[in-house]
Amino acid sequence: MAIIELAGIKRHYTVGDIVVKALRGLDLKVEEGEFLAIMGPSGSGKSTLMNILGCLDKPTAGSYVLDGLETSTAGADAFAEIRNSKIGFVFQGFNLLSRTSAIENVELPLFYKRGAKRKDQRDLARAALEEVGLGQRVHHMPSQLSGGQQQRVAIARAMVTDPAFILADEPTGNLDTEMTLEIMTLFQDLNDRGKTIIMVTHEPELAVYCKRIITLRDGSLVSDEAVEKRARAADSAAAWKERNALIAAKEASA
Ligand code: ADP
Ligand code: MG
Repeated sequence: MAIIELAGIKRHYTVGDIVVKALRGLDLKVEEGEFLAIMGPSGSGKSTLMNILGCLDKPTAGSYVLDGLETSTAGADAFAEIRNSKIGFVFQGFNLLSRTSAIENVELPLFYKRGAKRKDQRDLARAALEEVGLGQRVHHMPSQLSGGQQQRVAIARAMVTDPAFILADEPTGNLDTEMTLEIMTLFQDLNDRGKTIIMVTHEPELAVYCKRIITLRDGSLVSDEAVEKRARAADSAAAWKERNALIAAKEASA
C-alpha cells in the first residue's frame, strides 16, 4: 500500500477578483521506503504541495490518503492528530527552542501523545538522538552545537514519534558544504533503514542523493524520474574533505 496517495489535487487561492491556480490537478503516489525530491522553479507550487502533504493545508479539490486515512474530509481535530502522529517535519532553520536542551527539544512532539509516561518519553528521545549520532550531546543547548548538529537534533525530533514519513523543506539551506553532506548522509542512512523521506530542494546536486525526483511547473507535475546514478553522500563527504586537506597542504607549503 502506498503511504501517500494524491488524486486530482487542486489548490486555488482567491486574492480579490483573481484566482491563482497553485496546483492544477496533481496525482502522486509515494510508497514506503522512497526518498523523493520535489523540485521546480520559484512559484511552481512546491510550498503549496508541501503544506498539503504536511496536513497544514487542505486542497480545494481532490483526495489525499495518508497511511490509509482520507485527510481531505477529516475534521479539524482529526486532521491535527494525523499531522502530529504521521508526519515528521524538518525545516531549513532547524526551529529548535534555544533555551532548551537537545533531549528536551526531541521530547516535545511526544507531549501531544496522551497517556505517554515521562520516563518512556526520555528513553525514546535519547534513542532518537543516538540514531542521529548525538548520543554524547543530549544535554547540550542548541547554541553549543554546530549547524549540522542542530539539524540532527531537529531530525531526531522529527523521528521520535515514528512518523509515516519525514517531510523536509530545504533542510540544508542554512548549512555549508561539509554539513550539508553530513545531513544528506544521515538522510540516506535513515532511508536505508526504511524511513520514507520527502525533501523539497532547489539544488539539483542534492536531488541526486534521492531515489526519485518529481518536478513541478506552474502547478502541474511535469516530470517524475527515478535517479539512475544515485550518489552516496558519504562518498561525496570523503572527497570534499580530501580536497580541503589538499588545499590546506598547498597553503601551508606556499
Ligand atoms: P513555490 O514554493 O514553488 O515557490 P508556491 O507554492 O509558494 O510556489 O506558490 C505557487 C503559486 O501560488 C504562486 O503563483 C504564488 O504566488 C501563489 N500563492 C502561494 N501562496 C499563496 C497565498 N497564500 N495566496 C495567494 N497566492 C498564493
Ligand atoms: Mg516555496
